[in-house]
Amino acid sequence: SAARDRYIKKTKTVCTYCGVGCSFDVWTDERYILKVEPGLGHANGISTCVKGKFGWDYVNSEDRLTSPLIRDGDRFREATWDEALDLVARRFTEIRAAKGPDALAFVASSKASNEEAFLVQKFARQVIGTNNVDNCSRYCQSPASKGLSLTVGIGGDSGTIKDIENASLVITVGSNTAESHPVLATRVKRAQKLGHTRVIVFDIREHELARRADEFHRPNPGTDFVWLAAVSKFILDNGLEDRDFLRERVNGLDEFRASIEEYTLERAERETGLSAATLEALARRIASEERVCILWAMGVTQQCGGTDTSAAISNLLLITGNYGRLGTGAYPLRGHNNVQGASDMGAQPDAVSGYQRVDDPFAVQRHEREWGVTLRPERGLDNTQMIDAAIRGDLRALWITGEEMSLTDANANHLQEGFEALEFLVVQDLYFTNTARFADVVLPAAASLEKEGTFTNTERRIQRLYEVMPPLKGTKPDWQIYTAVAERMGHRWGYTHPSEIMAEIARLTPHFAGVSYDRLEGYDTLCWPVAEDGTDQPLLYTERFNFPDGKARLYAGEYRPRQQAPNETYDLHLNSGRMLEHFHEGNMTFRVAGIAAKAPDAFVEISPELAAERSIQSGQWARLVSEHGAVRLQVLVTGRVSGNQVFVPMNARKAEDAVNRLTGSQGDATTNTPAYKDTRVRLDVLHDV
Ligand code: SF4
Repeated sequence: SAARDRYIKKTKTVCTYCGVGCSFDVWTDERYILKVEPGLGHANGISTCVKGKFGWDYVNSEDRLTSPLIRDGDRFREATWDEALDLVARRFTEIRAAKGPDALAFVASSKASNEEAFLVQKFARQVIGTNNVDNCSRYCQSPASKGLSLTVGIGGDSGTIKDIENASLVITVGSNTAESHPVLATRVKRAQKLGHTRVIVFDIREHELARRADEFHRPNPGTDFVWLAAVSKFILDNGLEDRDFLRERVNGLDEFRASIEEYTLERAERETGLSAATLEALARRIASEERVCILWAMGVTQQCGGTDTSAAISNLLLITGNYGRLGTGAYPLRGHNNVQGASDMGAQPDAVSGYQRVDDPFAVQRHEREWGVTLRPERGLDNTQMIDAAIRGDLRALWITGEEMSLTDANANHLQEGFEALEFLVVQDLYFTNTARFADVVLPAAASLEKEGTFTNTERRIQRLYEVMPPLKGTKPDWQIYTAVAERMGHRWGYTHPSEIMAEIARLTPHFAGVSYDRLEGYDTLCWPVAEDGTDQPLLYTERFNFPDGKARLYAGEYRPRQQAPNETYDLHLNSGRMLEHFHEGNMTFRVAGIAAKAPDAFVEISPELAAERSIQSGQWARLVSEHGAVRLQVLVTGRVSGNQVFVPMNARKAEDAVNRLTGSQGDATTNTPAYKDTRVRLDVLHDV
């Protein structure tokens, strides 16, 4: 009816559930979501996956926080916004005065907008005067960004998602693409079906894409560096490299060649378990294919050598000339909707927005002019170091936005110790999360559907989201909360709309020079770097790599074998990861009734061999025990895992059974990213359940 039509509204937004960044129209009647449909200019051109289509009820969940909370002994009491914000500003001021600016630290949300991530690091650097700021890419993609920065100069996908379909060969390494990046996987599968793209999957788990692949290889856990080095050596030793490309566009060949000298096919066979013949065939194929893309994710990065292996992938692409043309390049697949953006915006301890180092003279000058303060030249603490500093007593206050750190960081019990050691913890979120239990002040944030802003997806594509519904009563968008605390601490930011924050980002960030809300109207998008005239770069490195001489740099990396190989006491290798239905730890998706009914809890996958050896059946309960903790889960016997490897999804219904109770503190040598995938456990069957 006409009366009803008056209330039905169609608004464009961007999915918050993975780095693919599907955008769509949401049809609403007040706060009721009627339907979600990809709009005409939809960046990825394919319909959404289950999460994007059905995963939105969390926004109206009864669990939403609608009032700030202040700790009162062992309990929390409701407070007004003024009281809570005054308290945050007062405690931050006191702690900074007593212990110095580095006694405070800030964690930005990779689910929140670019503008909000920018303000978190602005707050840390301008208002407080510290570089102690980070985001959750420390838990996932920092090694990939670093490996690419070292070799080609930009820590991002080198081409677009659509462009992957132009590859003649797509290789995935340590990526459960079909479940973690569903719509991107659809593109890979479609290209394969059309017959012009071969798909090769390297993984320790036989997930959906592995089953569909033309070749599936299962190296021993944590050995990807070895096969990559051996394949690169074989290509160079046999003159199969792209000599023109190397001569004209790449530095460091001699050092690189020397660094992989010992990686013969025979050694690789011994260490990876893949036969020398398989690796030789692979080397010949990669060298002879016209256009090769390599996609990778947490199976590579969450290891002790995550950065070195990421660089090894880039090295292989460089020696075979697979950069700068359509259908070629490096694709580290970003997990959160805005994990690329949170790093781009400078929510990291060593760089301000656009990866300008904190000691870069141009960045220092520009920021001094804009913010009226001097940037500190030394690197701040990353997420992992923040917890250690809290336990040591050096870090006294922490403000966490939108991250369930207590369950998603490795070694959850150690993390809890860090939280308890803090003098003052602020947690800003949609719900009273497990992390909020440790807080002194909890601030209720608005959800992505309730605000304006931009996200940047895995292909560096910046997209606008519009307000689908107003913030739930009692909540505020994150950018307004940071602005309010900054004002209370004497910095009149005065933002009235996120577009003003983007204008400031553009002034301070060469990669974003031409980004503005006008150029991002509706379904219009830009892939950074964006020149002042608005020209963007969907495909990087067509002429230059991002170094002063325009040449790429082969990186002489090092193999860092896993530290936690199974032993007599802990005889199983633990792998963890996503499942299609859930996002991350599950705080949002467990609040969607349909999804929670379909995938009600985590479980432990064990192999048929292990099940037979120990007479275990699906449905039995088991306790997984590591050096760091124990969890209780139901067993699922499946051919997806092999031998003594077990798999646990990262979303458990109960916080006490989260898989990161089991993971330890060892991490990537270069970036401190936890080596979640380097964990050993034992499995005790529970007979009394
Ligand atoms: Fe959302 Fe990712 Fe699914 Fe697209 S593929 S709808 S971005 S979860």
